[in-house]
Amino acid sequence: MPTLFSKIIAREIPADIVYEDEMCLAFRDINPQAPVHVLLIPKQEIPKLADAAAPDQALLGHMMLAAGKVARQLGVGDAFRLVINNGAEAGQTVFHLHLHILAGRPLHWPPG
Ligand code: 5GP
Repeated sequence: MPTLFSKIIAREIPADIVYEDEMCLAFRDINPQAPVHVLLIPKQEIPKLADAAAPDQALLGHMMLAAGKVARQLGVGDAFRLVINNGAEAGQTVFHLHLHILAGRPLHWPPG
């Protein structure tokens, strides 16, 4: 099922895009939880991490490397947190796989 993130990829709805390559796109979260809060999404529609399978291995690895690249590009390469909410009970609200890249303030542990 296409979500609003597919519309962001298609430029049908606006977003503050900070990074794009052939496999993924990163844009600022509309409701930031930290001074840097970027969502990194695959262009391929995978609803949630648990739906990814062996053929997606290269894409998932690519996204991890892209996350580091985005963090460095935004000047937070030394301290950032990646979050993936998988499933509604884990806080997922948009069912197009996304990595949250959070940085720019102290990030405590455990998370809420
Ligand atoms: P989830 O709760 O699924 O892990 O994260 C979804 C994220 O998408 C939330 O942090 C929410 O603020 C963000 N979001 C929802 N709608 C939009 C939108 O239209 N534009 C942007 N840039 N972010 C959105």
